[in-house]
Amino acid sequence: MSESTLTTSPTCSWGLDTEDGNTWTSQCGGYFTINEGTPTENGMKFCLYCGHPLVEDDEDFSIFDEALAMTRAAVAD
Ligand SMILES: [Zn+2]
Repeated sequence: MSESTLTTSPTCSWGLDTEDGNTWTSQCGGYFTINEGTPTENGMKFCLYCGHPLVEDDEDFSIFDEALAMTRAAVAD
């Protein structure tokens, strides 16, 4: 009954290194530089390090963008 819980999901989460802007960090510890776009935009469906289905960790982006938007709004005032 607990086969499909998130704790056992065989995926690899990739997140963008916001300091570099082009380097992605994989959940399994790999680093990959993409010149333009996201892993999925470049046709990457699986992590090239561990072979698990690649998922982009965009939760951090929305938080970052939100903070950036607030900062810009504050500067605009
Ligand atoms: Zn991986």
